Amino acid sequence: AQYQIPDVKKPRFVRVNTLKLDVETAMCELGKENEVQKDDMIPDLLVLPPGTDLHNHPLLIDGSIFMQGKASSMVAVALGPKPGWEVIDACAAPGNKTVHLAALMKGEGKIVACELNKDRVKRLEHTKKLAGAANVEVLHEDFLNLNPKDQLYSKVRAILLDPSCSGSGTAADRLDYLLPSHTSGDGDDVSRLIKLAAFQEKALIHALSFPAVERVVYSTCSVHQIENEDVVKSVLPLAESYGFQLATPFPQWPRRGLPVVEGSQHLLRTDPVEDKEGFFIALFTRNTGSFPASP
Ligand code: SAM
Repeated sequence: AQYQIPDVKKPRFVRVNTLKLDVETAMCELGKENEVQKDDMIPDLLVLPPGTDLHNHPLLIDGSIFMQGKASSMVAVALGPKPGWEVIDACAAPGNKTVHLAALMKGEGKIVACELNKDRVKRLEHTKKLAGAANVEVLHEDFLNLNPKDQLYSKVRAILLDPSCSGSGTAADRLDYLLPSHTSGDGDDVSRLIKLAAFQEKALIHALSFPAVERVVYSTCSVHQIENEDVVKSVLPLAESYGFQLATPFPQWPRRGLPVVEGSQHLLRTDPVEDKEGFFIALFTRNTGSFPASP
């Protein structure tokens, strides 16, 4: 077979849960046994050598640090919620990005963490508790059923939408994806992608329809254009009619969207081989004028 197994040896990334511990102390503690550096882009992310085993580390067990990849850690930072804001995490479980949001908001304000799947709601509750993220309200609900006109959501200023996706950008799935049966254009695979993309588009339109929302991040761990640029392309005219435009998360990051949509230079991709994970991030912003710029 003419396929290549990509190198999945990647640095061990550790996100410091600043609700419980500051970055300097975490560096000091982890540095006792490991080589530790700060990530060059994400202030609360540390980089350790590939293969570093932390699964029994007391800081991991007590929720002071989370094993979270760099691309995944970019998502909440791209949303950039301020302490005191009201935020929705639309598809939240297991909650890694939810509790990252809580840390960025210094535990102030409110995050509604919405999750459809009952078993995954339990994992979300567990992550919330472990992180000590008291400003997270877990909601067992279909995000599409949240009514944007409901008073409950009238002050929501930011939405993180990280919906179910094919997962084709993650290492385990990628190895699987490269097997010949998956590359043959198997009809089931394509119809699954079409279904996922239809939900992703619907959910993104829903997120953009909340009246006070100024920032929406759409992210996937997929490498497929149909789940990424194509979703953005299909919602862009409506988004613009609501006053949104594409903004540029991490302008210093070199890999941007595929040039199949106007504004693709604003989109962010991570490469499954070079960056060891294939993620996609789009950031929509607008000035609603109904709130001061920051609390
Ligand atoms: N953001 C999470 C994290 O970083 O830990 C990962 C989210 S995962 C990619 C997508 C989640 O969305 C799944 O847990 C799935 O059950 C949930 N989901 C799917 N459809 C949903 C819907 N209509 N409303 C709310 N949650 C949904």
